[in-house]
Amino acid sequence: MILLDRVSKVYGKKGNTPALDRISLHVEPKEFVIVVGQSGAGKSTLLKLLTREEKPSSGKIIVGGIDYDKLKDKDIPYLRRRIGTVFQDFKLLPNKTVFENVAFALEIVGVGNHEIKHTVPRVLDIVGLKGKEKRMPMELSGGERQRVAIARSIARQPKILIADEPTGNLDPKHAWDVVKVLEKINQYGTTVLLTTHNQEIVNKLKRRVITISGGKIVSDKAQGGYKG
Ligand code: ADP
Ligand code: MG
Repeated sequence: MILLDRVSKVYGKKGNTPALDRISLHVEPKEFVIVVGQSGAGKSTLLKLLTREEKPSSGKIIVGGIDYDKLKDKDIPYLRRRIGTVFQDFKLLPNKTVFENVAFALEIVGVGNHEIKHTVPRVLDIVGLKGKEKRMPMELSGGERQRVAIARSIARQPKILIADEPTGNLDPKHAWDVVKVLEKINQYGTTVLLTTHNQEIVNKLKRRVITISGGKIVSDKAQGGYKG
């Protein structure tokens, strides 16, 4: 569960306009939440508070039972293992193959070779990239690259997947492929937080939509009718 209680974030000196202004929010495990809002609204800031890339100026954050006020620096790697992230720019390692890109994310947290050989093909299958293990990022479409990035972030089996404008650089067809992968991951039990500018994706997904404007939540709506 994700819980934010009157969370504000002011960048720079006190008295600056808050990027987030007393946001309160509750996300249940396994929910799929879309966060929308104009550029500068505060969407990425909200996500950065959850990954602890930024600290709130005030307010309380609890994620999966972890109270961020009590978080020590040494707990952050553990936290980041529970929260996978995907961004607009895919941040793949250009000189590594698809397989190696995903494997690397596991190697750096000390996962053994045996488990890597088992896990990487499984997650590449989930994102629809079976058979492309040996490709280099350059040899993939944008949508495929983003799906490698997703495979990499789910390889560590996070409880929460944060996707900040993952379709921002993709044409509609590839964007929808990426969104379908996020839905699949959600159906396997991972909480997904997605920010997007793409109204068509929002309409098609029929999931909860939170709208942020000027650092405030201005609406939080369930879109009914989702049938899987
Ligand atoms: P969004 O993701 O919705 O476009 P952001 O969360 O990136 O919005 O930004 C919200 C506001 O905070 C904007 O006014 C932006 O300029 C400001 N901001 C974001 N990051 C920083 C930063 N590191 N330093 C100062 N201001 C920032
Ligand atoms: Mg942003």
